[in-house]
Amino acid sequence: MRGGLGGREQALERLAATRAEPLDLLVVGGGITGAGAALDAASRGMSVGLVERADLASGTSSKSSKLIHGGLRYLEQREFGLVREASLERQVLGRLAPHLVQPVPFVIPVTSRLRRAQFGVGLWAYDALSNFRNSKFHRYLDRDETEELVPPLPRGKVRGGFTFYDSKTDDVRLVMENLIQAVRLGAVVVNHAGVVGIAPDEERVEVKVRDEVTGYDMFVHARRVLVAAGVWTDQVEHLAHADVNLALRPSKGIHLVFSRDSIPLGEAGVFIPDVARRRMLFVIPWLGSVLVGTTDTQYEGDIDAPPVEPEDRAYCIESLNASFGLGLTEADICGAFAGLRPLIAGKHGETADLSRRHRVYEMGPGVYGVTGGKLTTYRRMSTEAVDKIASDLDIREDSKTRWIKLGCSRLKGVLDPATARARRMGMEASVAANLVRCYGDRALDVLDLAATEGLTQPMSPGHAPLAVEAIYAARQEMAVDLEDVLARRTRLALVDPAGGMGPGSAAAEIMGAELGWDRAEVRAQIASYRAKLEEERGLPLGSAAAPRAVTPSVRSG
Ligand SMILES: Cc1cc2nc3c(=O)[nH]c(=O)nc-3n(C[C@H](O)[C@H](O)[C@H](O)COP(=O)(O)OP(=O)(O)OC[C@H]3O[C@@H](n4cnc5c(N)ncnc54)[C@H](O)[C@@H]3O)c2cc1C
Repeated sequence: MRGGLGGREQALERLAATRAEPLDLLVVGGGITGAGAALDAASRGMSVGLVERADLASGTSSKSSKLIHGGLRYLEQREFGLVREASLERQVLGRLAPHLVQPVPFVIPVTSRLRRAQFGVGLWAYDALSNFRNSKFHRYLDRDETEELVPPLPRGKVRGGFTFYDSKTDDVRLVMENLIQAVRLGAVVVNHAGVVGIAPDEERVEVKVRDEVTGYDMFVHARRVLVAAGVWTDQVEHLAHADVNLALRPSKGIHLVFSRDSIPLGEAGVFIPDVARRRMLFVIPWLGSVLVGTTDTQYEGDIDAPPVEPEDRAYCIESLNASFGLGLTEADICGAFAGLRPLIAGKHGETADLSRRHRVYEMGPGVYGVTGGKLTTYRRMSTEAVDKIASDLDIREDSKTRWIKLGCSRLKGVLDPATARARRMGMEASVAANLVRCYGDRALDVLDLAATEGLTQPMSPGHAPLAVEAIYAARQEMAVDLEDVLARRTRLALVDPAGGMGPGSAAAEIMGAELGWDRAEVRAQIASYRAKLEEERGLPLGSAAAPRAVTPSVRSG
């Protein structure tokens, strides 16, 4: 076994032992920012711990549009520096995680000469800002080429279109790979362990952490603390001192997921105008399904559970129907999720206009905060935060994250043996491709485990994840409940109308057997998972037709 996150119990014990020898750094929050910071600090030889209140990546970092992109839209806001930084990071991440960050062609259909000229200039600037080193240069397509690349477009409606490249990813997997590499370098990571108190001192910070599984509290000692708690940053800062500066202004973004039978998308993503023609929506091929989003609305509800509301669903469906001439209804929705952007409040204007820039700041003695930013630029913002802390601690080592591979040494080097192995075990090549997409080099470990356990069937019929992944998630990736497995270690909560709990699903039984749940606990897990997912989707589970079999692709070379 190539190793994962390590055991949760041992991690808690190591954290409890920090009274005698404090950590150099305790990171609060297991989203992409915290995970990136933990890896960055570990790469400098610092002793690092990370605690996450809920599951790893359960915050905004599992609810993104899954794009590692320069951010074409930010050109309109003249955020050239941000676009350049993000475009260069797209290249770095494609090299560090080739299984996870994969180029995807996008098409922008155009209907007028003016739009053609505007997009032409914008896309030239987009390529220039990545030093013309994107996978391919943008190109104008005639009408036939545009319609061929975007099959759902009604015939004869557009003049042509532009194609350009960005990358797509699985946001949760990116978090996991950062954490696994951090653990490999000595970091200690624990999920379902929330910070409930922070007591800064001259020499060290004492942090009270609650194990949400047992309810026990413990104290973790660290020379410095980095709060990377996304939209919860203000709440955590409040634990350190009373006069918190309420700097964050959450903005909600939702996505709907459809089957490819409902929206017959090809391999290219497409930008479509929304019904109000005020912003563009992405329509992206993702995990064999079609992801549509996103919105950007000021949010004042419960930040722990932002829901997809009826008007959100109507907005996306009307936009899709207007652009594609389809007759989609809510019954076609396979999945829906909502996330909150931790935007830094501006003085005026809507959240859509606020900068996606990040901020690293001192919250109090020994306690730093890092917030804002994007999934794409997590590495840069983590480095900036850890630079500050390292300099404060007089640690002179530089970050090495630019060179630390994120779980896949060579894509072809794992895809070929994994495919051969899967075939020998009687499975389709697409199963191996999905394992490589998720686990990189560790795909071979999952196949070994499938052979040992005799579990080669899917976790949920018609979907790519294998039943054995529930065991792997519990043993190697710290999954402690059903939601951890269905919503994050696999993404069945997003792409399956039944959320991975349809007829024939093996998830709850296998998790129960692995973690020693009795019948009552299995039932409670199922009920709690279903209730949470229905609340987020705003729809009953399993209300949509089952999608056709999923064949997510992963390209090598
Ligand atoms: C709809 C939407 C689409 C987006 N799409 C993209 C995209 O395509 N590309 C892109 O580059 N960016 C995108 N973004 C932005 C990106 O997703 C976020 O910037 C990023 O995920 C934020 O990560 P984070 O780690 O800062 O926050 P989070 O992922 O929210 O992590 C913070 C963590 O802190 C934990 N926490 C909170 N309180 C405590 C506590 N007391 N103790 C311990 N832990 C605690 C939370 O549980 C949470 O897991 C999108 C954002 C949204 C909302």
